[in-house]
Amino acid sequence: MHVGIFGGTFNPIHLGHIRSAEEIRQTCALDHIYFVPAARPPHKAAGELVSSRHRLRMVELAVADEPAFSASAVELERAGPSYSVDTIRHFRAMLPAASLSFILGLDAFLAIQTWKDYRTIPWLCNLIVTSRPGTPRPRCPLPVDFQSVFCYDPGLRMYTHPSQSTLVLREISGLDISASAIRRDIRNARSVRSLVPPAVAAYIADHDLYRR
Ligand code: ATP
Repeated sequence: MHVGIFGGTFNPIHLGHIRSAEEIRQTCALDHIYFVPAARPPHKAAGELVSSRHRLRMVELAVADEPAFSASAVELERAGPSYSVDTIRHFRAMLPAASLSFILGLDAFLAIQTWKDYRTIPWLCNLIVTSRPGTPRPRCPLPVDFQSVFCYDPGLRMYTHPSQSTLVLREISGLDISASAIRRDIRNARSVRSLVPPAVAAYIADHDLYRR
């Protein structure tokens, strides 16, 4: 069983997230992907952040029709800042026999050295890094500490870690959508209908989110 963990602020979840998860599910043969909204994201400004309950509900609505996807409330149930390493430990304990992969976009991966205990993460799970429209791929995208521990396998076209975990940089077709552009569109009274799933667009309108 190969399980993906897709963490994010999801403020709100959009079709860029869903498309990326769908491509990764197929190309990396994942059986299931958990979308994990951060309750208190340490790296995002609080100003435009709607409550974690709203963000979780939008994730639930967005994945409702896809049996291979589910929303996880684990970071809402934990006190303090939402650190990915703690979330990965949670899934490691919950699914001891599964192969676990943490999924993140290239923009997030390029900042991974700012995350709590990021060097521990490959000891707990694999990493799948997706391309993201608008984020150019640097010649060597690995942080310096990772360059000295990961070894590139040209046959497998992936990096391997002493723990046997792998790190894959995956080119996806992707959609050039960001949550910040969606929030800006809503503030400017523009439609976001083709940028988020219809149920999420309805939820945003019903709860009057992001208008100020
Ligand atoms: P914001 O614009 O508010 O910074 P965002 O659109 O980047 O938000 P996040 O919830 O911060 O959304 O992203 C969660 C994860 O999804 C990150 O790993 C990010 O790289 C990835 N991601 C976000 N949008 C896309 C996209 N359009 N394509 C691929 N990956 C994406």
